[in-house]
Amino acid sequence: MNYTTKILGKRKRIALVAHDHKKHDLMDWANFNKQSLAKHELFATGTTGKLLEDALDRPVKKLLSGPLGGDQQIGSMIATGDIDIMIFFWDPMEAQPHDSDVKALLRVCVAWNIPMACDRSTADFLMTSPFMNEEYTANIPNYNHYLSRKI
Ligand code: PGA
Repeated sequence: MNYTTKILGKRKRIALVAHDHKKHDLMDWANFNKQSLAKHELFATGTTGKLLEDALDRPVKKLLSGPLGGDQQIGSMIATGDIDIMIFFWDPMEAQPHDSDVKALLRVCVAWNIPMACDRSTADFLMTSPFMNEEYTANIPNYNHYLSRKI
């Protein structure tokens, strides 16, 4: 695979999403990381965002609620390069009405090489990485070959 690069700035644009049974865990984690998160811009699906604003006492850019299209909005921002990091506490023990959107969001993160944490331990490792507060050059797959394929 051929790659191109993208610079992630010092101030990261972080998307946060938690399924209902994982929201408590995400709020706990966000509270613990309140100071580190203060250096970055936060985006979230509707309900997660509202809870984060209360927990962190700061504004969060809220999209639609996940099952109403919020996951797809975040996926779209990832595809257009407007999100740098994904914290996605999805629930492995409960089927979601928007399972197809969850799968699509996981896929688009990998397609665009977005650092993604789906559990608390990975989120801790991500938040404590020196790259969180420095510029980082990410390798992005170059899809030109795919775009110029013969149909
Ligand atoms: P919510 O959506 O934050 O609006 O609850 C989360 C999800 O994607 O299920």
